[in-house]
Amino acid sequence: MSSEARLREQICLLAKSMFDRGLTGGSTGNISARTDDGGLLVSPTGTSFGRLDPGRLSRFDAQGTLIGGDKPTKEMPLHSAFYDTRSTAGAVVHLHSCHSVALSMMPDVDEDNFLPPLTPYGIMKLGKVKLLPFFLPGDPAMGEAVRGLAGKRSAVMLANHGPVVAGKDVEAACNAVEELEDTARLAMLTRGLSPRALTDDQVRAVVMKFDVEWDV
Ligand SMILES: [Zn+2]
Repeated sequence: MSSEARLREQICLLAKSMFDRGLTGGSTGNISARTDDGGLLVSPTGTSFGRLDPGRLSRFDAQGTLIGGDKPTKEMPLHSAFYDTRSTAGAVVHLHSCHSVALSMMPDVDEDNFLPPLTPYGIMKLGKVKLLPFFLPGDPAMGEAVRGLAGKRSAVMLANHGPVVAGKDVEAACNAVEELEDTARLAMLTRGLSPRALTDDQVRAVVMKFDVEWDV
């Protein structure tokens, strides 16, 4: 099997796994990954994560021209914004995941550091997650807001909508977005119960030990 065929299979397998676990429902969510030739594979518009077809993923060449497959997701500008500003981005995943959307609606979240420091893994895999404002679906301002971060963040949360996470490859991006949702779930579960979050010193120790992009 060629490396592109393997990548196509992997995208569909990971998307189905997230769909099966209720991480994004209906035809929501979109995923993209860099190919060896500098192009992109992207989930098509209107498709369900539960039923992506490896042979019908949108295929772009290195110049950004659609050269095969179905029409790409409407949220393509979000994906392009990460690839254009983060040289390390090999894949981007966007979900409409329940708990992170719920947390984005809470009045007192820190917009610069959306996830509270509840576990070391949320910090290690995501760094600081920026909460972006609400945008109408398809508004190109969403991509512009990501570009405005100048590649300094690997993960953003679109308020009342869902997270968008970049990773070095498709597996890393999926693991990171799952960590974001799990941490948001913990935050919602323990909300109002005065949970003992990590202290500033503990956060700093995690950041130092695992070389996390943090003071950006
Ligand atoms: Zn969306």
